Amino acid sequence: MTLDQNLLERASHRCELCANTSDLAPYDVTPHAGPSLDTHVLLCKTCQDYVGNPAALEAKHWYGLNESIWSEHNAVKVLAYRVLKRLGDNAWAQDLLGQMYLDDDVQRWADAGLGRDKEEAAVQVVDSNGTPLHEGDTVTLIKDLDVKGANFTAKRGTTVKNIALTDDPKYIEGRINGTRIVLVAAYLKKA
Ligand SMILES: [Zn+2]
Repeated sequence: MTLDQNLLERASHRCELCANTSDLAPYDVTPHAGPSLDTHVLLCKTCQDYVGNPAALEAKHWYGLNESIWSEHNAVKVLAYRVLKRLGDNAWAQDLLGQMYLDDDVQRWADAGLGRDKEEAAVQVVDSNGTPLHEGDTVTLIKDLDVKGANFTAKRGTTVKNIALTDDPKYIEGRINGTRIVLVAAYLKKA
């Protein structure tokens, strides 16, 4: 929850790509370029769903990127860069790309994510370290987790056995305290 609070404050409770204020959640910008770089970005549900395929939305959804590209947070710039690249030969997107400046290591990080597009399309589910997760694996939580609706907090370090994959590679399902819940793969570590 600390992460969420910090992120919310940093982002002024707005999606860091489109400035929406509802359905906000942390998004982990993979692959991780190095431990010193904060990889989390606060995104609305729409941006979470479409960062990998931004052309599926009307271009105007992404107009907020003309601010995101000037963010002081590298993870935001990396994500903005990838979205603009994926928008292809849209003149507006090309223009913004032309205005962007990325340090070399940040540029490598941004490009590394683009290079992985094809693999990600094959729906690989990975844990917080990038280790692939499979049906039936055992994982541990790397952070405390409020289980909504069930009224308990699953503590960091809790083991979840026999996980199930979902349609969305960002999430898996597992059982904690007898309750079947959906877990964010980025908050898990393969045991
Ligand atoms: Zn958004």
